[in-house]
Parts: sequence; C-alpha cells; structure tokens
Amino acid sequence: LARPEDPERWKRLDADEYREALLAVVLGVDRRTAAGRRTLRRRMREIAERKAAAEGAGVAESEGGARRGALFRPEGRERWLAANKAKVAAALEGFSPDPRTGEIALVREIERCKSRRDAVALVRKQTGLLGGLRAFEFLEEIGYPIAVPDPARRRLFDRLGWTEPKRREAFPAEFFDLFERLVRLTGEPWRVVNAAVGLFAGSRDVAPGSSAAESLAVCGRRPQCGRCVLASACAFYRYRGEPAAENPRSVKRMAYAEQPRTRFEALGPANLSEAELLALILRTGAEGMSSLDLAREILERFGSLEALSRAGLGELRRIRGIGRAKAIEIKAALELGRRLLGGPVAVGETIRRSADVFAIYRGLLEHEQQENFYLVVLNARNRIQSHFLISRGSLTSSPVHPRDVIKVAIREAAASVIFVHNHPSGEPEPSDDDIAITERLAQAARLVGIRVLDHVIIGRDNYFSFADHHLLDPEE
Ligand code: SF4
Repeated sequence: LARPEDPERWKRLDADEYREALLAVVLGVDRRTAAGRRTLRRRMREIAERKAAAEGAGVAESEGGARRGALFRPEGRERWLAANKAKVAAALEGFSPDPRTGEIALVREIERCKSRRDAVALVRKQTGLLGGLRAFEFLEEIGYPIAVPDPARRRLFDRLGWTEPKRREAFPAEFFDLFERLVRLTGEPWRVVNAAVGLFAGSRDVAPGSSAAESLAVCGRRPQCGRCVLASACAFYRYRGEPAAENPRSVKRMAYAEQPRTRFEALGPANLSEAELLALILRTGAEGMSSLDLAREILERFGSLEALSRAGLGELRRIRGIGRAKAIEIKAALELGRRLLGGPVAVGETIRRSADVFAIYRGLLEHEQQENFYLVVLNARNRIQSHFLISRGSLTSSPVHPRDVIKVAIREAAASVIFVHNHPSGEPEPSDDDIAITERLAQAARLVGIRVLDHVIIGRDNYFSFADHHLLDPEE
C-alpha cells in the first residue's frame, strides 16, 4: 500500500491486464498471489483456445443454465465458466484495442464518465458479467480511483454514525462522498484509503480467500473498541457507553493490607466485620461507592444481619447498587449461613424453659471461639420473634451496653426478651461481670416495660440459667 501510485495508470494498461483483472473478479481469484496469476493465465488461454475452436467449427456456444449465484462456490465457478465461455470471451473481447488507434473503447468511455457511479453502471452494462459489487471490484482492480461499498465497509460507516443503516439506496452516493473526504483529508490515494478502510472493517476483498483481513479487523464482526483509534468519534461506541472509569472509592484503591480479601486471608473470617464479609459477597459497589460502603449502607439500612436475612429481594433491590443478581447472592449467602449454624431456624418456636433456649442455641454457640451475646426477642406468647447478635467479644468477655440492647428490643416491639451468651472456655458458670450486666440490663428493660425472662450462658454440653438459679425474676 505504501508504494507510490500513478493515479492515471489505469488508463494505460494493456488489453491483457484489463482482461486479467476482469477474470480475476469474475472468478474470485487473487491476482496478488503467484498461484492466482497462474490460474488466470491458464483460464485466459483456455478461453482463447475454445473460442478459436468454436469459431473454426462455426458452432454457437451455449450459455447454459448455470446460475450466477453459483460463482461463489469454487466448483460452481468452474461450471459457470464452462457454461458461459462465450459470454466471458465476449466480455474479454471488449478490451481489444482499436487496430488503428490502439485505444480500448471501454476504457475511453470509463474515462469520460462524470462520476464514479456512472463508471460502475457503464462497466456493468458493457461487460454483462459484473453485477453487484463486482463492477466496483473490477474498477478497483485496474487501479481506477474507487472504493468498494461492501457490507463490512458499510457496517464500519454505520457504526461511526457517518451513514444511516436504513437508507441503503442512498448508500453509494453517501459512500463516495465520504471516501472523497477521506482521500482529501489523508492525502492518500483511493487505493490506499479503500484498502485501509477495508482492512480496518474486516472486508474480505482486502485479502481474498484468507482470514488475514478478519484477524486484523478492529471493527469487524466483533468490534474491538478498546483498541480502536476511532472510538472518540464512533456513534456505536458512544451508544454502548465508555467502559466505566475506575470507581475512586473502589476497594482496590484501599491499602492492600486493609482490603477485605487480604484481611480475610491474613486474619480469618472470624475477625472480619459484618460489613467486610458482606462486601466480599457483593464484590463491587455502586457509582461512587466501594463494595465496603455499599455493605455498610445495607447493614445500616436493616440494622442487623438478622433483619437483613428477613428482608425480601424487593427490599434489597430498593438499595442503590443492588440489582437482581446481588440481591439473590446476599440472600443465598445468608441462607447458607442460616442452614449451617441453625440461626433463626428457631423463629416461631415457643420458649417454655431454659432447656429450650439451650437446645436452640447450643448449635450456634457451643463451639464459638469468641464470646457472643445475643438478644432473643419474644412475643406475648413467648414465641421467638427474632434474635440479634449484640456483640462479639474476646475469649473471655463481650462488651455489652444496655443502651444497645434496649434500643433493639424497643425497635422490635418485644414483649419479653432472653439474653444468651456463650463461654468459650466451656464452663457456663457466670462471672461477676455476667451477673452485673444482667442486673443492669434487667433494670433498663424494666424501665421500658420489657420483661427479661432469662439469661442463659451456653457452655460445652451444659448451660447456666439465671432464672433457674433465681438470679432473675421475670415478674419484677
Ligand atoms: S469504536 Fe468500536 S465500533 Fe467504533 S469504529 Fe472503533 S471498533 Fe468499530
């Protein structure tokens, strides 16, 4: 393509070069390859010999009934050629030079055409062989300044928004206008612009019979907009939207050691906050929000994991950044946790005695390595309405503030409550702190009219009940 080109050269080819170009287009042979050139020479010879033989015998050649469409198949081309020898020979004959002037009449007529469209129409009419895009291809093959409006180039122009896909009838005119401008702007010959556009668009005529054009095409069937130099001018790209810029709040921008995944690996899941664990499930945040921000917002909105587990998909999807997929993922993860730990499976169960509490919560707390403090909310019939993890502490204690507990109990309109916590040591005997906090909690609950039925400490295979040991009087 980089070779300098004489724009007038197409007018000075010899008759055989025109014929070869015609035959190459008709037969779909690539003249740029040695094999293609050999095929063409052989065909030219055959046609000339058969024509001479037929003239000598005075027999008119039959054009046969082979369909033009069969040209697209190699074996079809053979048959078509065999059946249309006379027609092909006549078309080739059209490039015979005038014996007196040496001029080729068809070339002179093409030269006189006012527009490229006229030249295409003339070639179609005079040869009788070059329907569809073949007339364009032939003109391009001889070096006439033209471009081929094939589907790939059209597709490129449509995507760029330079042409309208629906207005096919106006296409050749628009197409040539656009090419004129490209030629003017680039200062390159038509041949170069046509080939470059064809290569970019994945036109088959750029490298016929090979997949080279396909593999080099940036804007081919599967546009690779990411590496396209025209992206800023492309309507298709604008319509599809630019790839989202990286979220400035993205977790990836956090210090590596602070990222939830790093912390999960380094510290284990038990040491991650609920927001961090939820962020790991969410994976991505929303516009201007990291997954961690989004997780915090969700937890804030629902108040606790427990409430979140009861939320429906619709409620979750009302949160900005939570779509169908994320809502389902959250629910699925919570359901897995619930099944594994026997979490709120007990919702609706009636608590009659401390043993009921132990039976329900031992699966959840017996093997916990940290102290967890739960508030169990009961309705007027002593049925578990919900439960909440109030605090998660160290090996020996968990910080509980009466305000946090009572706040949740009021919000849940609890008729009565039970406190449950575990001792990782396995010994359920209450410490002085346990007794003190139980008293403070009971006082606070009494002030707001909520009965405290019991405080159960889960050990290994056993438990301690404040109510059973008369350390708590629910009727007070
Ligand atoms: S941005 Fe994409 S669609 Fe537009 S021209 Fe480039 S590759 Fe084709």
